Amino acid sequence: MSRFSATASMTNWRSPGAARRAQDLALERAGSRMAFGSALGDLGMVQQLLADSEIDIEASRALILRTAWELDTGSAAAAQLTSVSKTFVAEAVNRVVDRAVQICGALGVSAADAPLARLFREVRPFRIYDGPSETHRFAIARRAVRPYRQPRAGAADGS
Ligand SMILES: Cc1cc2nc3c(=O)[nH]c(=O)nc-3n(C[C@H](O)[C@H](O)[C@H](O)COP(=O)(O)OP(=O)(O)OC[C@H]3O[C@@H](n4cnc5c(N)ncnc54)[C@H](O)[C@@H]3O)c2cc1C
Repeated sequence: MSRFSATASMTNWRSPGAARRAQDLALERAGSRMAFGSALGDLGMVQQLLADSEIDIEASRALILRTAWELDTGSAAAAQLTSVSKTFVAEAVNRVVDRAVQICGALGVSAADAPLARLFREVRPFRIYDGPSETHRFAIARRAVRPYRQPRAGAADGS
């Protein structure tokens, strides 16, 4: 396992816990806050936010476990999966925290030490360190296209 793959994977392992905490705060609020005669969680648009976050959390967990398995077995797919999961999971936890802030409204962001405000600040760098999403996407596309690349006409070494 390369050092880069290992650290990118470790960043991922932190994300579902943070996402779960944010989603639990959103669920608590959605269940208790009454608006327009019903709980927020009974409103279709809020339900969509909650459902999308559950999907992001479970998909992240599955991808992290699959990537860990590929790394453990020394699979040739490990590097690609590390980039795929680093990008997906880092962006997913940001989506989940962002949705939770939206559902909690002003409460989510008004106090600097509020749990969601802290999570919002803490997960944002996940999209930057251990390789920004843009550089992982560059690597993912380059690896994906490699088997299909035709030798360039006139290139002596076929590169
Ligand atoms: C909280 C935190 C903790 C950190 N901890 C560590 C640590 O422990 N060890 C360590 O070594 N580093 C650490 N870093 C540094 C981190 O790895 C770098 O910030 C990261 O690699 C991005 O480099 P940069 O900040 O110099 O941004 P730049 O390289 O200037 O990139 C800025 C932006 O440009 C874009 N970009 C850059 N290159 C490309 C490209 N090739 N293609 C397309 N777009 C591109 C991306 O959007 C990127 O976010 C940490 C950073 C943070 C925020």
